[in-house]
Amino acid sequence: MNVSPHNRREGDSDRQCGSCSQCCRLLRIEALSKPPGRWCKHCSPGHNACAIYEVRPDECAEFLCAWRERVELGPEWFPHRAKLVVVSDSGNNRIAIHVDPITPQRWREEPYYNQIKQWATRAADNHGQVIVYINDRAVVVLPNKEIDLGSFRATDHVVVSETRGPLGRDWHAYVVPAEQIPVGERDRLITKRLAVAKFDMLPPAPPMDIALPGGRG
Ligand code: SF4
Ligand code: SF4
Repeated sequence: MNVSPHNRREGDSDRQCGSCSQCCRLLRIEALSKPPGRWCKHCSPGHNACAIYEVRPDECAEFLCAWRERVELGPEWFPHRAKLVVVSDSGNNRIAIHVDPITPQRWREEPYYNQIKQWATRAADNHGQVIVYINDRAVVVLPNKEIDLGSFRATDHVVVSETRGPLGRDWHAYVVPAEQIPVGERDRLITKRLAVAKFDMLPPAPPMDIALPGGRG
């Protein structure tokens, strides 16, 4: 059955996927063991059609990208055009930007980079995170810099901590494997609609205290 896998829901914008199928390519689909950056075998690119529509995984059926949901993202963010798929939580505070691996620097181009940095600044003030994904590589975008975390497994968590010192605010980010996180705290802040990321944000450290958990810095 060939039906658009991403149907309009009540409350959504009037936007439609049209010829875009980028989320069926750029995102990891855990239920299908589909890695990020490769076409889903059930997708007909260009037709936004899912061959297993009736039995597609919940993570597909429940998914809409931020461009579909948020009218404040202009036409330049249409994923088929941008080569970027933006996914955000309901507060628009945890944002993932999935980049077409054929154009891995696309997110650094304008108007995208300036907008992404604005999101990062707002996220830093609200214990949120902005992460760029290029296949399984994760880059944390912070107000004053980016931190390339390298290869990122679906079960990994990203921890961001903030320090405040005489030179102002600064941020650190690192990967914590799920098995190093107490069972009761795993996925505590998982945002499933972000598809790949587990988030955590440590509270700001006291002034002048730049020590990070585990001695990493
Ligand atoms: S990336 Fe967004 S616009 Fe493109 S097919 Fe997926 S939900 Fe639709
Ligand atoms: S199962 Fe269907 S909706 Fe899910 S990624 Fe594949 S083509 Fe897209």
